[in-house]
Amino acid sequence: MDAIFIPQLTKASERTEEIQVQEFLPNLETLTPVRGLIRIKHSGNYLEVSGKVETIITFSCNRCLQSYNHRLTVQTSEIIWLEEVSEEELDLPLEREVSVDDLVETLSPQGYFEPSVWLYEQMCLEIPQRQLCDADCTGIQATNSDVNHSVDSRWASLESLKKKFTS
Ligand SMILES: [Zn+2]
Repeated sequence: MDAIFIPQLTKASERTEEIQVQEFLPNLETLTPVRGLIRIKHSGNYLEVSGKVETIITFSCNRCLQSYNHRLTVQTSEIIWLEEVSEEELDLPLEREVSVDDLVETLSPQGYFEPSVWLYEQMCLEIPQRQLCDADCTGIQATNSDVNHSVDSRWASLESLKKKFTS
């Protein structure tokens, strides 16, 4: 996906650019290409970016550690303000308190919009914190036979110590 030169958008039909997405994103490991559509509209002092894409990602279950495929669907829209940010504003002292306003994305009106970076960020936000192969996954099961017949050698000394104390 090519970066979009923001002033160019004002010349597009309805000041809107649509991008058909069908590709693997850099830094995002997916099983299938990311497929969908992104729409970028120039609305004067802000961009209205919306998108709907989906892909399949292979996760490792947090409980049983098995790999499973998860369909990730992202449907989102965002306002990106267009304003020149002065040098001193960029040079923020680290201890400065960050207000909610500071978290709003801003681009230079003469700059570029990077669809693949935007999409990458949106997809990362949608990746579930808790990755489970199934809501009912019971995790790794230690069966009785495992416990009785194959005591790990590392535990053997502990086991004998235990016997010493209990006998
Ligand atoms: Zn599982």
